[in-house]
Amino acid sequence: MTEPPAIPCEEVFRRLMVYLDGELAGEEQHQVAAHLARCRSCFSRAEFERRLKGHLAELGRAPVPHSVEERIRALIGQFNC
Ligand SMILES: [Zn+2]
Repeated sequence: MTEPPAIPCEEVFRRLMVYLDGELAGEEQHQVAAHLARCRSCFSRAEFERRLKGHLAELGRAPVPHSVEERIRALIGQFNC
């Protein structure tokens, strides 16, 4: 098995949404997964996002206003890796 090339935290953050949607291409998916396995701060960020997505999905019918989503993202962005 070959180790996927390491990617920086900011790259993980950039791909995180797509990763959680399961829409990354195979290799990119592997790179993010490998990074998350090693990097605690990215891992907790990913967990946070995953839970947030779950909550939003549970809220169901009412679509979340884009402005709210942006505000949450800005908040998350204040945590540096
Ligand atoms: Zn990281």
